[in-house]
Amino acid sequence: MTADISSRLAVRGRPRTTGAFTCDRCSRAAGKHRASWPEGRICGTCFTVAMRTYGTCPGCGTERMLPGRSASHGDQPVCADCAGITQDYHCSGCGTETEHYRQNTCARCSLRNDLTALLRVDDSQGNETTAAKLLAALCGAQRPESILTWLRKSGVRELLERIATGDILLSHEALDMEPNSLRVEHLRSVLTHHNLLPGRDHYLALFERWLPSKLENIDDVEVRRPIESFARWHHLRRIRTLSTGGRPTRGPVHSAKQEITETIRFLTWLKLTHGRTVASCLQADVDAWLADGPTTRYAIRTFFVWAVKSRTCTNITIGFRQAKTVPLLTQGQRLAMLKACLTDNIDTMSYRVAATLLLLYAQPAVKIAAMKSTDVILTPDGPRLSLGEEHPAPVPEPFASLLTRHLASRPNMRTGSSPGSPWLFPGYRAGQPIHPNTLMMRLREIGIDLLGARNASLRGLVKEVPAPLVAEMLGYSYQVTQKHAAGTAEPWSRYPHTEPRRIMADTP
Ligand SMILES: [Zn+2]
Ligand SMILES: [Zn+2]
Ligand SMILES: [Zn+2]
Repeated sequence: MTADISSRLAVRGRPRTTGAFTCDRCSRAAGKHRASWPEGRICGTCFTVAMRTYGTCPGCGTERMLPGRSASHGDQPVCADCAGITQDYHCSGCGTETEHYRQNTCARCSLRNDLTALLRVDDSQGNETTAAKLLAALCGAQRPESILTWLRKSGVRELLERIATGDILLSHEALDMEPNSLRVEHLRSVLTHHNLLPGRDHYLALFERWLPSKLENIDDVEVRRPIESFARWHHLRRIRTLSTGGRPTRGPVHSAKQEITETIRFLTWLKLTHGRTVASCLQADVDAWLADGPTTRYAIRTFFVWAVKSRTCTNITIGFRQAKTVPLLTQGQRLAMLKACLTDNIDTMSYRVAATLLLLYAQPAVKIAAMKSTDVILTPDGPRLSLGEEHPAPVPEPFASLLTRHLASRPNMRTGSSPGSPWLFPGYRAGQPIHPNTLMMRLREIGIDLLGARNASLRGLVKEVPAPLVAEMLGYSYQVTQKHAAGTAEPWSRYPHTEPRRIMADTP
């Protein structure tokens, strides 16, 4: 018990302000005091810790809150009575001795009072009404304070009220009908967490909502019908199977949407230009379409593989995006190369890391060669990469491990004039980084020929499937990569869509 108490008593954090007064418990300067007790004036930090300290009082042997300190007990935590604290910290509602959230009332009771009024919970109707269930779930939260904070956000009270009155039914589908917003999604996760709603796959659900509206907007039934079959029997079925198996669905949903959108474009063009449908489509039509537009048009490939197999069309073949004169890299090739860099010893660690930076963030060789070890910032949440933007980019697993291992074991560290070379890729020559040409030659040797025209395609691929999605496609779950972003309040979405483009713009 003593160990438990002392660990909870450890004072964390620095006082925010200096000046005003000095806390009589921790002797630090603080803005103002939170309590006046026999031992003196207590700062906010010490007060919060005191309110969370429970145990057997060494003074009277009672098991209760121990906010005070007693000189006669070696400065150990003691109960309010033994410390001569006259304030009563029992909650007027539930009798628990704890910090008061509001006038003589603990946070949980304050929350219960607020919700009972808001949801108009009527005890005479039993605890099976939606309002009663909602009340029980929300009051059961581990930290009632966080629900109280959430209730202050705009629109939240109104949403809860509408659920309690039955205006919004307690179902995923009913919430889907509400304008899509963060507060609806948060409410959904709260309800799911408390078993008021069954759990469901977020990305699968997004796809299920996206698909009908996409199909609805296709006027021509001859275009819509094959797209619908393709979407349902190929993509939806596949994503549902992945979801049931607990596999990540974010990446697959992303590519499914792209493939469906591109196929709608093609079939619409085919009908309008040539008056043909999938069944009468010619190989020449497909070839003309692919030759005459952006590389994203190759996303129709999956549709034709499916259509040929399901005898919806005659034998039309589409190769992977590739051309003789302008070498292009496909997403599949990019993923395969990354996988090789990660799992196979295709080269030394240095070159594998350099190749990863190139394939993952579209950093040109010149830029990679000039990177300093300080461009990799090690944080408790994993490494981050300083790529020239104000916010260092997070590095998802499994690349994070590869990068940190490399940082710890860089080669040529002893050939430099000083033992600690500043370069991320130290060269053979003392104090110099690796030469960009050496780097490019080595990358070409391991099969990554990304000079010139290929840079453009890689740039597109990085935009299409950014680092975290790549991690997921390689079988690393979103949760793992997300963990590294936690605590920084920086969603993946802001990264790295803009960064590679800017850097690549000034590549030769
Ligand atoms: Zn203090
Ligand atoms: Zn006591
Ligand atoms: Zn209470």
